[in-house]
Amino acid sequence: MNAEIIAVGSELLLGQIANTNAKFISTQLSELGINVFYHTVVGDNAERLKSAIEIAEARADLIIFSGGLGPTKDDLTKETIAKHLGLPLVMDDVALKFIEEFFAARGRGMTENNRKQALILEGSTVLANHHGMAPGMLLEKSGNTYILLPGPPKELEPMFQFEAKSKLAALLNDGSVIQSHVLRFYGIGEAELEDRVQDILDNQTNPTVAPLASDGEVTLRITAKADNVEDAWKLIKSKEEEILAIVGEFHYGYNDDSLASKLVEVLIHNKLTISAAESLTAGLFQSELAEIPGVGGTLIGGVVTYTPEAKVNQLGIEKSLIEQCGVVSGECAGAMAAQVRKRFGTDVGVGLTGAAGPDAHDGQPPGTIWLGFSIGDAEPVMHKLSLQGMRNTNRIRTVKFACSYLMR
Ligand code: ATP
Ligand code: MG
Repeated sequence: MNAEIIAVGSELLLGQIANTNAKFISTQLSELGINVFYHTVVGDNAERLKSAIEIAEARADLIIFSGGLGPTKDDLTKETIAKHLGLPLVMDDVALKFIEEFFAARGRGMTENNRKQALILEGSTVLANHHGMAPGMLLEKSGNTYILLPGPPKELEPMFQFEAKSKLAALLNDGSVIQSHVLRFYGIGEAELEDRVQDILDNQTNPTVAPLASDGEVTLRITAKADNVEDAWKLIKSKEEEILAIVGEFHYGYNDDSLASKLVEVLIHNKLTISAAESLTAGLFQSELAEIPGVGGTLIGGVVTYTPEAKVNQLGIEKSLIEQCGVVSGECAGAMAAQVRKRFGTDVGVGLTGAAGPDAHDGQPPGTIWLGFSIGDAEPVMHKLSLQGMRNTNRIRTVKFACSYLMR
């Protein structure tokens, strides 16, 4: 099955919003093993939408629409498809009841426009909307499958995941199941990782292996198709072994794992407490750890000491050290780590300081970062990074490096 996604909305063409629905749907379809060959964006215009549908029908057998299911005049997706396919719109009792209840619960009156939202393409299956009023639809006609989804992501995403996905899987039904599994890597660039597993990427059939990179991390998604879940996992596991035999040293987790979640796991496992003194990251490291449930008792606290004065007054860094070495220095990072560890009485202390960019800082080029790690009574260990990214990327990468260093 080959798919095309048609996102409807003039605000997309005007650059007012990004087409995140297409990104979401594509990711979901790849999990089902469905190829997406085209993303189309078209404004709220019936004529141009009709021509987009005709083009899509000629090159895809699954066409997924996002947007234009609302009650207003510019919402014309459903009407345009109905006209194009020569299908009437019929009132769906379940959808209507849902909308009536929606208004009754809010003590508001319904308009004729709201009733219009319960109209569906004749012969289509309703996809329930648990977060809004407009129902989605799935329709099979003349060898094509059409799926209509509402524009707001908070309606579209659950509707796709919980209503449409299983129906699509059933349509694909050759009795097979599809499973996928993500391997996460850190410390190796995308190009190098792809280079090392090139043979696997070149010769993939089932399972398929898809690389993706973001913010210094690389993932490989393994997707397998088999007669049953158990066999699909056997395929996945054997491909995983093959991959890890080559790049296993950079592998740190699976699926929704993050460097921070793995670090927290290690700290909890070893019953270690941590604190941090942050300059360029200004709390980002602690915030990442705090995202992980159960981190209380492990993350004890920390300070943001952005200026040299704050480092002296709030953290007790020697003024002479800053005068001699500067704030973007291993000495400063090490002293920050040791001081915060002492002040918070933790097993591990982290000090992060550097020139986030875009300008040089303290005579150091942008992207020069120093990390200090103070563990127990040992002398602090320091690491220097020379990053090339934009300001925020450099801050995020600093935090990721700190997590990955401590986790190993
Ligand atoms: P509504 O009932 O809210 O009008 P709708 O199905 O008619 O829903 P649209 O009017 O096309 O959808 O879009 C509603 C909102 O959904 C947009 O203002 C935008 O915030 C969001 N949206 C629409 N299309 C996309 C898209 N492709 N990606 C991300 N967000 C989108
Ligand atoms: Mg709308």
